[in-house]
Parts: sequence; C-alpha cells; structure tokens
Amino acid sequence: MTTLLNADLHCHSVISDGTLTPEALAQRAKAQGVDLWALTDHDEVGGLQRAAAAADAVDLAFLTGVEISVSFAGKTVHIVGLGFDAQNTQLQTGLRDTRGGRGLRAQQMSEGLARVGIANAFDGALKYVGNPELISRTHFARYLVECGACKDTNEVFRKYLSEGKPGFVPHGWASLKNAVSWITQASGVAVIAHPARYGFTANEEYALFSEFKSHGGRGVEVVTGSHSAAECLRYADTAREFSLAASRGSDFHSPEESRIDLGSLPMLPADLTPVWELLQERIQPARAGH
Ligand code: AMP
Ligand code: MN
Ligand code: MN
Ligand code: MN
Repeated sequence: MTTLLNADLHCHSVISDGTLTPEALAQRAKAQGVDLWALTDHDEVGGLQRAAAAADAVDLAFLTGVEISVSFAGKTVHIVGLGFDAQNTQLQTGLRDTRGGRGLRAQQMSEGLARVGIANAFDGALKYVGNPELISRTHFARYLVECGACKDTNEVFRKYLSEGKPGFVPHGWASLKNAVSWITQASGVAVIAHPARYGFTANEEYALFSEFKSHGGRGVEVVTGSHSAAECLRYADTAREFSLAASRGSDFHSPEESRIDLGSLPMLPADLTPVWELLQERIQPARAGH
C-alpha cells in the first residue's frame, strides 16, 4: 500500500481528553479528506464501537486504536496501538489497570493547585470529563483557562501541569513491555507516539527504540501534529535505522485547541513502509459502492 494515503491514525474523543464525540470525529475526518482513520483515546477502547459504526456511516476506512500511557526512564511515553481486537480480555484488563490510578492522581493534582491558590480544581476539571475513568491533565487545563488562571491550555501546561510544576503528580503507568504485548497479543501493531516530545538523551532514546523492538513493537510516528518538519525528517531516519514502519496522525483533540486538524499533515516519506501496510487485514473498509 502506498505512503500517499491521507491516513490519520491518532486523535482523541470525549471518551478521553478530546472535545468531539466519536461520531463528530468520523464526520470531520471524512470532510477533511481522510482516507483511513483510527480513534486513539488514552488508555481506553470504549469509544471504538461508536467510531467504527460512524466511520462506516460516512464511508470511511477505519482501524481500531488506543494510546497507552507508559513509564520509561522516569518519563511518560505514549504507545499507540492500531488494528487490534478491541474485545481482547488481556488488553481490556491492562487498560483498566492503567486507567485505575487516575482518580487519586487527579485529587493530588487538585491539592497541589490549591497550595498555589487555585481552589476546587478537581470539581472544575470534572465538568470537562466525558468518561469518569479518564480524568486527565487536559481537563484541568480547560478549567484553569475557564477560571482565568491562564489565557490558554499551553500556558497552563507550562506554568502548572508539566514536570516539577505545582499541579504535576508523578505517576506509575504501564510498563513498555506490557503495553506492547497487550497490543500485539490482540493482533495489533504497537507504535511509538510522537518521539520528539519526550526530551530523552540520545542514550535514553536508543534504549526506548531498542527495547520497544525487542518486545515486538513495529512502528513509529514519523509525521505527527507534535513534530516540526525537522523532527519528521529526523524520525524518518530513526524508522530506517530501526527498520520500523512509519505512522501518521494529527493527535487532534479539539477544533478550539488543536493546531493541526484531522487529515492535514504532510505525506510520509515515500521510501518508508507505512504502518497500514502491516495492517491490511485489520482495516474495516469503506463501504463498497459509495
Ligand atoms: P495525562 O494523560 O493526564 O498525563 O494528560 C496528557 C495529555 O495532556 C496529553 O495527551 C495532551 O493531550 C495534553 N498535553 C500534554 N502536554 C501538553 C501541552 N504542553 N500543551 C497542551 N496539552 C498538553
Ligand atoms: Mn491527550
Ligand atoms: Mn500522546
Ligand atoms: Mn494523543
């Protein structure tokens, strides 16, 4: 299959920290000219049935997806899973465990914010939560903009929610090995999400890619809404070096907040193997005759 496909294999709905429903995302992807779409909510597959039905209704090819939070070398890394069987018990149990600590973490984030004068952030964030098991920093960011603490969500992350800031609470997520194996034993392909975002040293990054491969990981996001043009080129080289397939996804969360819309990224470099080539059997095709 060609790299010249308008695939968008990374975005979020109200089932995690996006602001659109799975149905609205499917319609928006179609309107934006997407040819192959995946919904990748954080640590949660609860939106995939709706997404698959909505994709079918608008005649859009679809892959199951998820973005799993992983702790690696003292940082949080995101592993995207694509094309898995969403009914798989081991995957579902692993994701439930990964989501499990979010409630307590959110309470502690709220306490940290209260210490710097921002009261009731937990209740404020909850107003933005679509799935009670999936309260995230993004929901706090929306509330901190609403209450006037910051002018936009970027400023919230910079001042309050990134490592070392008052609302940041270190958290133990899934292990890299477990996240990759939950995906692969459910017949999916594991992909390292937005590798430029982690701020790893060269050695740490080498360890991430090597260990990811040794656990059975097969792809890396090369073209993503989180990468500059230079970072796309850099991780295209990493994909070649580690013989990984390349993925492409906007990481779209919201029409108001996201810089890159669905389906509006550059194409993958032509010499790379697109991750959808590994997933041909797993694609729910667009309806014939439309
Ligand atoms: P959590 O899983 O609760 O730690 O939240 C992570 C989410 O926060 C990411 O998936 C992004 O949606 C969002 N996020 C992280 N850093 C930033 C940032 N600098 N600006 C805006 N959103 C961010
Ligand atoms: Mn997010
Ligand atoms: Mn991510
Ligand atoms: Mn994401």
